[in-house]
Amino acid sequence: MPNRTDSNEANQRIDARNFVQASIAHPYKPQHSEAVLAHWRERIKHLLIAQNAVLVAHYYTDPLIQALAEETGGCVSDSLEMARFGAEHPAQTLIVAGVKFMGETAKILTPQKRVLMPTLEATCSLDLGCPIDQFSAFCDQHPDRTVVVYANTSAAVKARADWVVTSSIALEVVEYLDAKGEKILWAPDKYLGSYVQKQTGADVLLWDGACIVHEEFKAKGIIDLKALYPEALVLVHPESPSAVVALADVVGSTSQLIHGAKTHSNKQFIVATDQGIFYKMQQQCPAKEFIVAPTAGSGATCRSCASCPWMGMNSLENLCAVLEQGDNEIVVETKLRERAMKPLQRMLDFRQHLPG
Ligand code: SF4
Repeated sequence: MPNRTDSNEANQRIDARNFVQASIAHPYKPQHSEAVLAHWRERIKHLLIAQNAVLVAHYYTDPLIQALAEETGGCVSDSLEMARFGAEHPAQTLIVAGVKFMGETAKILTPQKRVLMPTLEATCSLDLGCPIDQFSAFCDQHPDRTVVVYANTSAAVKARADWVVTSSIALEVVEYLDAKGEKILWAPDKYLGSYVQKQTGADVLLWDGACIVHEEFKAKGIIDLKALYPEALVLVHPESPSAVVALADVVGSTSQLIHGAKTHSNKQFIVATDQGIFYKMQQQCPAKEFIVAPTAGSGATCRSCASCPWMGMNSLENLCAVLEQGDNEIVVETKLRERAMKPLQRMLDFRQHLPG
């Protein structure tokens, strides 16, 4: 574990992310007139074609960006599918709307392509909370453990791992390793790691990281909301605290939660993940109602309000600017990329052999 008594660096990171949260407006509140937004949309469409580029967007980005990605033949998905779509698409340039590790993953999988991001400032509390020097020292202290890291990490952390997993495949990979008698070192999300540990019974040593969005969901608030909507099904991402996961009818990755909303016949759903996902849920299930799970409670100062501040840094404006200027390119040094590719490839190969 990171040394809790020597926590200056960690405090600086927390200060930095609090600053980011405090300084960013709510991502889904329109800040520009419809005429300005229409201008950017048309300009982006033109530039995507002119530059042989495709837009890949995460479920948590502004719905305006998700809609544009779909309209222009790009994709809206989770981080792994974004990278796979980008790798298979013929476009020479990938515009990745999301957070930095997603751009890095796309570049690792597709080194021959140019990968641009609307902003390089958009990061993730899990990535920030797992710096390579501390993580590497932690791994060195536990050489008997297989190192499994979540996709929400830097290229350097991935390169130090034996396996990379996404939330959609974490259980299967850890089950597989446990069956082989391997002990796991898991990083960085302690809640997802703890969920995986409980579900599989594996020997899992956890790094102490958390997602600032999912960590904020409150079990008491969900219980109160269930009293108001007794027919609602509760959908929870496993980056949430265990008391919240315990209330879930469906626990899963973003894609699995969307699938749960589609396949269950209920008309109402309480959703504990970033509310950007409501765009896709509503599109897939127009007759159903989606209710955001409570975060900090009534009257409290909400730290995340079910909206990732870093995802919210992506906008039509900076998307247009990056296409015009060609900056914000993701670069991953060749040796690092090759090392990070190994645990990623291991996951992709494993996934291919899963049923369905
Ligand atoms: S929602 Fe959480 S895990 Fe996802 S990018 Fe934001 S901080 Fe990271």
